Amino acid sequence: MLASYAVRVENSLGRRYGEPSHPYRNDFERDRDRVIHARAFRRLNDKTQVFTRRYSDHFRNRLTHTLEVAQIARTIAGQLGLNVDLVEALALAHDLGHPPFGHAGEKALDAAMREHGLSFDHNLHALRIVEDFEQRYVAFPGLNLTFEVREGIIKHSRDYSSGQFPELSEYVLGWLPPLEAQLIDLADEIAYDTADLDDGYEAHLLTLQQICSRLACFARLFQEIDEAFPHAPEKLRFNEALKRMLNRFVDDLIANTQTNLQQAHIRSLEEIRTHCERLVSFSPEVESERRQVKQFLYANLYFSTALQPEKEDAERVITDLFAYWNSHPDSLPSAYRQKSQRDPLARVVCDYIAGMTDNYIYEQYEKHVARQGTP
Ligand code: MG
Repeated sequence: MLASYAVRVENSLGRRYGEPSHPYRNDFERDRDRVIHARAFRRLNDKTQVFTRRYSDHFRNRLTHTLEVAQIARTIAGQLGLNVDLVEALALAHDLGHPPFGHAGEKALDAAMREHGLSFDHNLHALRIVEDFEQRYVAFPGLNLTFEVREGIIKHSRDYSSGQFPELSEYVLGWLPPLEAQLIDLADEIAYDTADLDDGYEAHLLTLQQICSRLACFARLFQEIDEAFPHAPEKLRFNEALKRMLNRFVDDLIANTQTNLQQAHIRSLEEIRTHCERLVSFSPEVESERRQVKQFLYANLYFSTALQPEKEDAERVITDLFAYWNSHPDSLPSAYRQKSQRDPLARVVCDYIAGMTDNYIYEQYEKHVARQGTP
């Protein structure tokens, strides 16, 4: 049963290129399926989330992270009476635009672009992937996704001003996104905050004592488990406490969003879009716990010396390859050479690099830079 403010597929603003409807899959289900069958989606399997395979081959990569976000987002959407098909499509697409090497890769690519007066943003890049780079259909470029999925890809994690991004005007930047898109960013955070504690602990970069001493919310949950199962192995007690923390975040997000909707007397999708602020949010108490977890992860994991070699690798490989193709455009694949007649070369090189997996970019680096000496 959909809530009155949910997105209804029959009211979709539709696809860029008209297509006959499918006999038994609605348009958002088809969009979800198109994302799953996309090349960019398969490549997430070899893109770093936080840990490279140097640590373990069962830690999260960007594909398994994406699946965890989809699971959490579907659960939240179901409880709020939102359109679960749209939420699933958005969750599966939310990281399609990420370059190789996680956030270090994104930072290096953006820095390289800024030297050319341009920039790199993974949401905008995801839109370019689904609009243009994916080639699966004879009748149109890209995946020809519905307006609501394209809009959610752009708006799920931040606001773009129409003055700065006139090319996005069709997405009515003055509108807030529907709740289906608003919840993706927070489902993403719940997924990576808990997953990174898990992988960080298992990689021995974070200790139980360190986590409990710095994160009161985790310490409380761990103590409950500790009292109930004092003889269980530490890793199992840790898992149980982490699972309860994930549930606490999800429960709170659902309950607090319901409160927000009631207090604002929201009845329709239009009221969501024109409200003064986003309505999916944690309560102040859990919001401060979430911030603590995030700050803890930044200080003790993302910026740790242990992960520094990966960051330096990412920066060197991306910066040097970017410089190489900018001065040797003839060695780009022919499709990209053709694109450089239309778009600035730096943008074309950026698009090429952003699409690569970690493995592939290392191969390219070996071939064009490492073996030649300098870029
Ligand atoms: Mg993500």
